[in-house]
Amino acid sequence: MPCSPETLIRSDILHTSSYQVHPAQGLIKLDAMENPFPLPEAFMQQLAERLAKAPLHRYPASHPIELIKKIKHTMHIPAECDVLLGNGSDEIIHLLTIACAKPGAKILVPTPSFAMFKILAHQAQMECIEIALLPDFHLDLVAIREAIRLHQPALIFLAYPNNPTGTLYTENEIEELIHMASSGLVVIDEAYGPFSPASAISRLQTCDNVLLMRTFSKLGLAGIRLGYLAGAPRWLTQFDKVRPPYNINVLTQIAAHCALDHMAIFNAQAQILCAERTRLSNALAALSEPQKIITVYPSAGNFLLVRVPDATAIFESLLHQGILIKNMHTAHPLLAQCLRCTVGRPEENDQLIEAMRKVLAHF
Ligand SMILES: *Cc1c(COP(=O)(O)O)cnc(C)c1O
Repeated sequence: MPCSPETLIRSDILHTSSYQVHPAQGLIKLDAMENPFPLPEAFMQQLAERLAKAPLHRYPASHPIELIKKIKHTMHIPAECDVLLGNGSDEIIHLLTIACAKPGAKILVPTPSFAMFKILAHQAQMECIEIALLPDFHLDLVAIREAIRLHQPALIFLAYPNNPTGTLYTENEIEELIHMASSGLVVIDEAYGPFSPASAISRLQTCDNVLLMRTFSKLGLAGIRLGYLAGAPRWLTQFDKVRPPYNINVLTQIAAHCALDHMAIFNAQAQILCAERTRLSNALAALSEPQKIITVYPSAGNFLLVRVPDATAIFESLLHQGILIKNMHTAHPLLAQCLRCTVGRPEENDQLIEAMRKVLAHF
């Protein structure tokens, strides 16, 4: 037999395509929830000095104790928890799924949610059970209870707040979900924690089936690729076995140290973005008057989900006007005619509002 991809590569991989990232050069980039603010000159200077001394000829620390200590302290992780670092949350999701991928093991995700949960579950050859959110984007606890009974998922992924809906589930929803999942792990993904009024961190101490995942990406350092998982040592020691030993590179470790020494900068930027979120939300809702042609959903993240008359036409028009957002129209039935806009700098948001005003005049 000839050597070819068709004979060697798993058929499910042969039949999927790579993750597509829209080119953004020259555009106002409001598609990926990045922090839009450049870092202050003084911070960059200090970072440059530290990076200049980086021992790049050595492998990075496999278990950087000082960095982990600093993360635990700064992020108020309970002392009895361990922290596992990942090359972005993406790698952590990958580690969780491959470690749990016993034959027939499943994950459950209330959807629409972060696409990587399903993508990485499939790569690990786990089935992904998707339970649709309610029309208001809250959890359908009745359907989830039934699905848990039927499928006994090893992992439940819950983005809190959720992406792309922005929903902050209630304390009661979180409580019930954790309770009904008792024989599986609940991974609470707080990627948008910096913009959220609530956290599930206290569940780490009260529930033995909960893990908390966070990332530096949305806080303002998407480029360094650093995420972390906090939870009981009995779980994290298992997941650590599938972690590549040098997964966090030397430059990232230094940048993370530096960032953790200057959290006030990032916290201040997050505060501005929260205020801008409110301003953008109000301005977009006002554009909709008086016919109510657009709906802006409540968001606890640094983005807004908006339902419009024609998502694809409006996405294209904004692109034409130099603004890249994310068209969610085909991502899930509940997202029909929905767009997701990252909250940018004030002047970027002004341009988004103006561009929206222009295009909505045609509806
Ligand atoms: C953006 C996002 C992440 C971030 O992933 P990284 O790999 O850490 O950049 C994780 N979870 C959710 C729900 C997100 O939206």
